[in-house]
Amino acid sequence: MAADTVFAKIVSGEIPVEILAETDRVLAFPDISPQAPVHILVIPKSTAYANVAELAAAEPETLAEMVAVARSLAEEHANGEYRLIFNSGATAGQTVFHVHAHVLAGDLEERSLG
Ligand code: ADP
Repeated sequence: MAADTVFAKIVSGEIPVEILAETDRVLAFPDISPQAPVHILVIPKSTAYANVAELAAAEPETLAEMVAVARSLAEEHANGEYRLIFNSGATAGQTVFHVHAHVLAGDLEERSLG
């Protein structure tokens, strides 16, 4: 179960963001601290899932929708090629416990994984 996170406040509109894509279940907006030329976060609107495994088990169709949105954003903002990262757990680098996909695109050649 995701706690009351910054992403819950983004979903509710309490924290305004530039919405790059939106479906009934999914929202995408720029990462506030970009780590690549294109760095977009794709999240489910549901606050029920802390990480990708919880989401995959409960709502695989929402996870598939997140991947489709990520792909379409990479086509719109880069050349259609992208890295998709889900950090799961604090020791893996997760700081916001509302499942989110980092979509990294642009010139990534010099960058290491993660
Ligand atoms: P990390 O902080 O190590 O990347 P996560 O994988 O949990 O850990 O990613 C959380 C991401 O959310 C970070 O990349 C951070 O820059 C981003 N972020 C935090 N607050 C906001 C915000 N208000 N708007 C957009 N992105 C945000």
